[in-house]
Amino acid sequence: MAILKLPREVALKIAAGEVVERPVSVVKEALENSLDAHSSRILVTLTEGGKSSIVVEDNGNGILWQEMPLVITRYATSKIATVNDLSNIKTLGYRGEAIASIAAVSRIDLRSKAKGAAEGGLLKAEGGSIVCHEQLPWKEGTRLQVDDLFFNFPARKKFLRSNLSELRKISALMRDFGAAYPAVLFSLYHNGNKIFETQGTGDRAAVLRSLWGASPETRSTTVSCGSIKLECWWQSTPGRQKNIITSFVNGRIVSDPLIRGAASAACKDFSGNWMFFFTLPPELVDVNIHPAKAEVRFRYPAEIFEAVKAASLDLQNRPTRLSFPSFWE
Ligand code: ADP
Ligand code: MG
Repeated sequence: MAILKLPREVALKIAAGEVVERPVSVVKEALENSLDAHSSRILVTLTEGGKSSIVVEDNGNGILWQEMPLVITRYATSKIATVNDLSNIKTLGYRGEAIASIAAVSRIDLRSKAKGAAEGGLLKAEGGSIVCHEQLPWKEGTRLQVDDLFFNFPARKKFLRSNLSELRKISALMRDFGAAYPAVLFSLYHNGNKIFETQGTGDRAAVLRSLWGASPETRSTTVSCGSIKLECWWQSTPGRQKNIITSFVNGRIVSDPLIRGAASAACKDFSGNWMFFFTLPPELVDVNIHPAKAEVRFRYPAEIFEAVKAASLDLQNRPTRLSFPSFWE
């Protein structure tokens, strides 16, 4: 068969498909942008599990109205500028492709006003083509509305699950973000109903208590190992043998085989919900190895192992509940 250069439209959908798999991928990218913009309140409103509409509204730094078309332009970003920046990534996003990918497979309505700017703006696009770009009075912050996800991509639309199942994934993701960013107030609404809201007071214990619900016991510890700081939380889940392990590296939710391996070995005889929050210098972790940024590569993997082991042993060996009075209600 002859080699053909694919039409732009097909190429864009292939690329978009790597970033946007289902509604939760849209929410994840939008939340990352809101966090990168230093928002302290983020409101997510879904209709039909996000299949018909997803709205993410924040009170962050906003976007200059003149620059709005760049938001849906591939490889346009305000977060990095040079190759060197790739080895020192301090933001959750950096590739400048998320919103372009989302826009390619949906209808978007973006409203924003940059901090200190005189004017806000509106940008609407369908399947990645701009249909409206104008000034619009808006409060500081950004509102991204994504309607009819995959309206022009039936192959992908077929694989969406029930509304409830899509909602569950989004709700789980937002709970994880809530735990990772206790100082940010996250709210989630679905079909007009409030699903949950975090306090945004900066108190991680309080966020976990409200997200995890009442549990007989919660424990936490912080360990340092070389250049790594690890804050570890555990909650008992009576009646459940399986461990649920969630990990974050520099505020990024990761599902990394190395951490997973270390954690499942270290925690195997102590079931419950485990959360690991790693903080390390950005130059010691490469986040640019996975399309959804879910896996990372560590410069010193042995330190990760050691930290997980030390933290989990510390928690497992706590003799009594009384050493954690703050969790007793
Ligand atoms: P990236 O996050 O990798 O830069 P995106 O496609 O997610 O790429 O976003 C492109 C750009 O749009 C960002 O670099 C940022 O400047 C701007 N942007 C997107 N969402 C927001 C937001 N909620 N608040 C402020 N700026 C935003
Ligand atoms: Mg982004």
